[in-house]
Parts: sequence; structure tokens; C-alpha cells
Amino acid sequence: MPTYRELRQEQEKHIIGPYGTLSSASRGRPVPEPEDAVRTCFQRDVDRVTHSKAFRRLRHKTQVFLQPEGDHYRTRLTHTLEVARIARTIARALALNEDLTEAISLGHDLGHTPFGHAGERALRDITGSFHHYEQSLRVVDKLEKDGKGLNLCQETRMGILNHTTGQPRDTLEADVVRLSDHIAYLNHDLDDAQRAGIVLPEDVPEIIRVRVGTRNSQRINAMVTDAIENSAAGAVAFSPAMAEAYAAFEEFMYAAVYRNPTAKGEESKVKGILAPIMDYYTGHVEKLPPEFLAIAEAEGPTVAVTDYVSGMTDSYAISTFENLFIPASWSVK
Ligand code: MG
Repeated sequence: MPTYRELRQEQEKHIIGPYGTLSSASRGRPVPEPEDAVRTCFQRDVDRVTHSKAFRRLRHKTQVFLQPEGDHYRTRLTHTLEVARIARTIARALALNEDLTEAISLGHDLGHTPFGHAGERALRDITGSFHHYEQSLRVVDKLEKDGKGLNLCQETRMGILNHTTGQPRDTLEADVVRLSDHIAYLNHDLDDAQRAGIVLPEDVPEIIRVRVGTRNSQRINAMVTDAIENSAAGAVAFSPAMAEAYAAFEEFMYAAVYRNPTAKGEESKVKGILAPIMDYYTGHVEKLPPEFLAIAEAEGPTVAVTDYVSGMTDSYAISTFENLFIPASWSVK
């Protein structure tokens, strides 16, 4: 009797097209393990990421808007879920492996710092080199499960590492996640910027309104459909008309939102929180939680402190700062 997993591996050969990645053809895990009876290797990766601590922390990490006051702004967790949905839709239409696509999507931002890209830039300034995609791989390889890591498949690992533009191609599923990440953040950050009143509907350039759409769902649908229709030849791409609108969209978002002076003002505050915390723990390595002490010994204090601080949620970083540097108030009854 074949196992459920073996049956699924057979089904994949009919569902997944020539450009997709079969779970039965995976390059395997860094440390070999027996196969599961029910789930394919990529299904297991989806589950491992979903059950990780770093995944749960995404709930309290900023996407773009720091410490948002409303309940409807995106967090790093809802961003991740939106990426996974968009990527699975594209992967299914292109006959790629949806499970691998989902595993990469859910893991791609696990290494993101507190306070979004402001936090990432602050850590890069402080340490000299920090990239969230490299840290995402470090989280799944080393930091989860008290230093044992999740031992994910090579295809999932490489997809997590190269989800940022400019990295070499590994699988088409990874390319789909990379594009889906952009589709997701441009659209939800525009939606949030409008919610915050930073951008008015009429500020959005005409090329975006005409070619992509005026509503969030309309824009996502237009970009996803265009990508599906133009990716048939084993490469993930937009049509030239959508590529032009997409470039204008990105340029607009950088000018209006990501480099907005209001947001920039908040950035110096982020560095003002993270730099003293980094300094403090670099000078007091013994105060790190026990799981980081072994890292400090093996790879030096800077690596251990970076691992610890980059893993913090926004709220945890703020309360750490308060505990370390703000005198406690004496409550008077
Ligand atoms: Mg992302």
C-alpha cells in the first residue's frame, strides 16, 4: 500500500507542469530525515514555519506604519498572509508547486526586524551589514527550536534567501513569491497610506489608476492576472504595459510613503531605541537569554546581539528600552 504522501507525489506529476518543482525531486534537507507518511516535504515545511515562534512574532512587527493606532493597518503577519495568497493563486495558474510556494511565502520575512524597514536600516547602520532575507534564512536554519533550526528543504531555504530582487534564480516558485511580495506590499501599503491620510486617491498617478485600478482588489487582481498571462514561458513577468505601470507604482510609493518626511522623522527614533539596546547587550552579553549565549561564544557578541534584537517585536523592543533606560515610576497609593 502506498502512503498518502506517495499518492500525493504521484498526483503532483499530473498537476505540476514542466516548470514546477516536484516534491519527490526535492534536493532534500541539510540534515536528512525520514519522510512523513501523510505530507510531502514541502507541506511539512509549511507546517514547520507556521508553528515557529518567529512566525507568531510577525503579528507584532511593523509593516510600514509604526505602532499604528487603528486596528486595520497591516502588520508583518498580515503582509505575509497576503503574499502567500497572491503567490498561491499565481502558482496554481502556472502549474507550479503550491506547497513550496506557500512555504517560501510564509517564511520569507521571518528575519524582519522590529519597526519594519526603518528597523532594518538602523540595524544595518549599527552592525555594518544586515539584510532581513539573510536573517530569515538564519532564523529557519539556526535560531528556531533553541538553536536546532527547522531543517527546511533546500528549495524552501533558497526561496527564503532570494526573495529579494537581484538574487540568482533557484525555482520558479521562488520567483513567484518575489513578485507576489511586491504586488502585496505596493497595494496594501497604498491602501494603508490612504487610510492614514498620507496619500489621497487623486495623488495616485494616472498610469496606475488607468492601467492597474483605483481600488485595492482591482489593482491586485489586475497585477496577478497580468503576471499569469505573461509568465507562460517559464519566467515570471508582467506585460510591458504592466511593467511600466508597476515601475511608476514603485516610484510613487517610495516618494509618497517610504521616503515621506513624516516616516523619516520616525526612523531616527527607531535608531534611538535599537542602538542603545544593541550597545547595552554587547557590553553585557551575560544578560542575553540563555539560547543566545552559545551563539555569542561561537560567533561573537555582535552576531548574538543582532540575532536577539532583530527578533524582537516592536512592543518588546520598546519595553526592553523602557526597562533598561527609563527609571521606573513609584506608584503611590
Ligand atoms: Mg515581504
